[in-house]
Amino acid sequence: MSIESKPRIKITYATLRNDNEELHALYEAGVEASRAGLGRHHQNLVGGRLVDARAGTFEARARIDSNIRLGTFAKADAYGCGACPETFKTQRAAVEHALTHTSA
Ligand SMILES: [Zn+2]
Repeated sequence: MSIESKPRIKITYATLRNDNEELHALYEAGVEASRAGLGRHHQNLVGGRLVDARAGTFEARARIDSNIRLGTFAKADAYGCGACPETFKTQRAAVEHALTHTSA
């Protein structure tokens, strides 16, 4: 998937009433992109790397239709710093550590 630098369409009541082909095409492309992502496995981003967790995975299904499997997700068993690869058992410890990167 790529990110376009084109300006986004502003959706208002007026644009919804008009038959905007570009809006419909973007909507359909968004639906297809979302469908393509269904059922995938998602890892955690820790220290800039995507990793599975020792705690295993969990499955998420759509609330409007439990037959739709959104995907499996790595459980979080640690909190990452965001600025370095270190992990911590509590969110508080991770935040306190992360602040050491910004303090001069
Ligand atoms: Zn750190």
